[in-house]
Amino acid sequence: MQTRDKTAVIIGAGPAGLAAAYAFLTETNDIKPILVEKSDSVGGISKTVFFDGNGIDIGGHRMFSKNQQIVDLWEYFLPDEIKNNINPDEQDIVMLRRKRFSEIFYLRKLFAYPISMSLKTFKNMGLKRTIIAGFSYLKSAIFKRKENNLEDFMINRFGKVLYSMFFESYTEKVWGRHPRNISKEWGEQRIKGLSLVKAVLNALHLTKKKETTLIEEFSYPKYGCGQLWNLMACKIVELGGEIHYNSEVVGICNDDNKIYSVKIIENGEEKYIDADYFLSSMPIKDLVCCMTNKNDDMVKIASDLPYRDYMLVGLYLNDLSLKENGKLTHDCWIYIQEPDVKLGRMQIMNNWSPYLVKDKDKIFISLEYFCNEGDEYWNMSDEDFIKMAVDETAKLGIIKKEDVINSTRLRVQKAYPAYFDSYIDFDKIREYLDKFENLYCIGRNGQHRYNNMDHSMLTGMEAVNVILGKVTKDVLWNINAEQEYHESK
Ligand SMILES: Cc1cc2nc3c(=O)[nH]c(=O)nc-3n(C[C@H](O)[C@H](O)[C@H](O)COP(=O)(O)OP(=O)(O)OC[C@H]3O[C@@H](n4cnc5c(N)ncnc54)[C@H](O)[C@@H]3O)c2cc1C
Repeated sequence: MQTRDKTAVIIGAGPAGLAAAYAFLTETNDIKPILVEKSDSVGGISKTVFFDGNGIDIGGHRMFSKNQQIVDLWEYFLPDEIKNNINPDEQDIVMLRRKRFSEIFYLRKLFAYPISMSLKTFKNMGLKRTIIAGFSYLKSAIFKRKENNLEDFMINRFGKVLYSMFFESYTEKVWGRHPRNISKEWGEQRIKGLSLVKAVLNALHLTKKKETTLIEEFSYPKYGCGQLWNLMACKIVELGGEIHYNSEVVGICNDDNKIYSVKIIENGEEKYIDADYFLSSMPIKDLVCCMTNKNDDMVKIASDLPYRDYMLVGLYLNDLSLKENGKLTHDCWIYIQEPDVKLGRMQIMNNWSPYLVKDKDKIFISLEYFCNEGDEYWNMSDEDFIKMAVDETAKLGIIKKEDVINSTRLRVQKAYPAYFDSYIDFDKIREYLDKFENLYCIGRNGQHRYNNMDHSMLTGMEAVNVILGKVTKDVLWNINAEQEYHESK
């Protein structure tokens, strides 16, 4: 019989925290996981939010992993429709296979994403622009710039003209900074080995290797990503784990080498939870700043770590103007690169999973806005913000205002950990946190790294392996750090 006389507090019940809790329950006999989650549900920023019967992710979340252990875990909870010959109309617990369709909306037209040298691109750009872009690309291929920042990185791979058209203003929209003021490491990690040549070869099917950005198929639960996290949470409780909802960690009781307990506010009440191990997926900024025994130098670096926040407007519509041969476009998401609107991206939830939309004849879209918490857009009332979003989308010719049946708005804090400002000193923070013998940093904001769901889950699972003495803490930080980590499959 299992005794589980030791405990591990896991801060945050997003993918990283849930994966860690599940690993404790399946890989150890003596450690009980206690998940402490500040919101009222699991899944973190990978949850699916339902509004009047329609579901939206916090930005559509495609499930793709190069790691077989992760894929197996996903398919254990949600069997794959193709491998198991499941008809999704007849079974709710099922993983759908989806085609990755996405395009760029620019010049009020749809371009392939990533940019490819297709006939459609030439037609949309016009002959003159195409020739200028071609020469500009050749120039950048011959005269390589020294890569000091993201602008240099992009121009070296796409040429100045394509960079100005497709990256410059969009990057600024997303990150709130000009690419000149963003480090080239961002491009190295996010875009990996992508370049115009590779995009063209891929478009022409002349290469077997697919860059991460170009992976063509992904998995997706019938009822959105949140379905997976809800199933995992049920299993964790069934196996003996605890989940505390509406419980925010507001203090970490520590000395120089060890953590002893966390102070939480649970449903308005202050409590302390002692434990043997502490796994943290809360933002590093908050973690370092709420330690009772603070290190002022580290608090300074952590306080300046930058994030980008994010907002969504969900619109339930009678119709959408983006059509192919009279039918709804097959894009899952579209990058809005028009500089005259603040709108950054839109998701068409029908194309992620038709089961997320209440009425099959209607359309459910989500409009994505990048912002900073507390800025003028963040502070706008729901009514004003939704009006702005509807006006912009109608101005682009994507919807007609009279087709809006219903709408909602969501705010998401710290959606993107960013790699500028004090991030340059991040290694010092990492070294400092690693000194706490029973603290393990996991997940996306927990490591301040642009981790996807699979990376986040792996950090949680590997943290358990560190505790079991199978690997060292370095392994946690090396996930999603290698240049070649997930570029091909
Ligand atoms: C727009 C967008 C699109 C994305 N698309 C994809 C995609 O297509 N594919 C993909 O794989 N990944 C995608 N991601 C990344 C994915 O969302 C993250 O990798 C994943 O959610 C990170 O999991 P996590 O558990 O580390 O963190 P989170 O999901 O952020 O979860 C952390 C949890 O900790 C809780 N918490 C925070 N502070 C405290 C505290 N003080 N006390 C208690 N609880 C606390 C939070 O409430 C949250 O539930 C996307 C992200 C965004 C923003």
